[in-house]
Amino acid sequence: MQIKFDSEVSKLLKEEKEKCIGCKLCMKNCPMLGQYCKTPKELLSRMDEGQQVEVIIPYSCALCGYCTQVCPKQVDLNKVFFKLRMNIVRDTGRVPETINYRPVQFHQKSSFSKLFTTEVTGLEAGKKRSVFFPGCSLTAYNPDLVMKTYDYLREKRPETGIMMNCCGKPTYSMGDMKSFHRFYATVQSSFDVQGVDEIIVACQNCYKTMTQYSPKQKVTSLWEVIAELGIPEDKMNRGKSIPITFAIHDPCPTRKETNIHDSIRKITLELGLKIREMEFSRENTLCCGSGGMLGITNKDLAIHQMKKRANQTEEDYIVTYCEECVESMKHGGKKAIHILDFLFDDEIYLKKIYHQGQLSTLKKWSNRYVAKRKVKKLKLGGRVSGNQKR
Ligand code: SF4
Ligand code: SF4
Ligand code: SF4
Repeated sequence: MQIKFDSEVSKLLKEEKEKCIGCKLCMKNCPMLGQYCKTPKELLSRMDEGQQVEVIIPYSCALCGYCTQVCPKQVDLNKVFFKLRMNIVRDTGRVPETINYRPVQFHQKSSFSKLFTTEVTGLEAGKKRSVFFPGCSLTAYNPDLVMKTYDYLREKRPETGIMMNCCGKPTYSMGDMKSFHRFYATVQSSFDVQGVDEIIVACQNCYKTMTQYSPKQKVTSLWEVIAELGIPEDKMNRGKSIPITFAIHDPCPTRKETNIHDSIRKITLELGLKIREMEFSRENTLCCGSGGMLGITNKDLAIHQMKKRANQTEEDYIVTYCEECVESMKHGGKKAIHILDFLFDDEIYLKKIYHQGQLSTLKKWSNRYVAKRKVKKLKLGGRVSGNQKR
């Protein structure tokens, strides 16, 4: 299915085409370029000549930014493909049928419904107005972990509030900006009504989205906060007894955030974990396979990338700090764990199981409901977490 694009995209496409020298440095680790072209220059020229695009091409880009990171000419293919997605949705009024938008729409409609969300809760008058925003994928994985993280934050910074919601990144990634702005307005309105100054985010996608769309608030990564405040005392060096080396996977949305990369390494050091860096790490990290909603828009490509990324280390175990990445590394065939499991889940040490299991979709939604109920019932001032079985 071919779709025409507008003059703004056409101009960007020409500019990027002119910059590309066809060196192919970007292609070695890009999940999709090799499938659709000999070089980006050839692809951009083809699209420029026809003034149209096959819709699967922009929807096969993981929007991971690796190409620009390694490109000697800073060609921004992420921008080109994302603008094309937005252009397609704007001009046709919808995401094309062939792209499988329905599951995303269902997820997002549910994610923003009252069943799974709360307003900002727990701020105190006259105090710094910081709110913890765990995001949807972490909450779906383990509400108790989220609440224990919040316990920790309140112990260190008693004035911290919490909000259960989604940042809308799945809708954004599909290029459906009208729906994204409608969803995000509900989140922003809660921040504004409560006069929130700072949002502490656990998810790398939330970090990126909120940094862009909540300019009035300071967006801080949970990892920077923990690195600064210190890990829970009972977890200090707790990882030293674990006879496993974990490879670290850095999530791609925060590839430019050196401070986050450093904070994570500091946390693993305090935990006493044995860590191995992957060949492509930090700024040069590669997408886990879920970027740009690839798992929905081009599933075969996503699975191929998950396997490729998971097997770029000889280690059997991978630790990361994005729950979507944990899922991808599991799909890629490795044992994967979230850094928060080491920080706040005592069970992993008792059971000596250092990787996450499988959860059904139903369980994930039920976990989100449980988390929302826990926040609704908060009696702040004491501990807020309770035990839950996974
Ligand atoms: S953003 Fe990532 S997936 Fe898209 S073209 Fe660049 S390297 Fe490939
Ligand atoms: S790295 Fe840059 S210049 Fe080289 S082929 Fe890729 S986009 Fe073109
Ligand atoms: S799932 Fe992880 S690596 Fe993939 S795009 Fe999201 S954060 Fe990046």
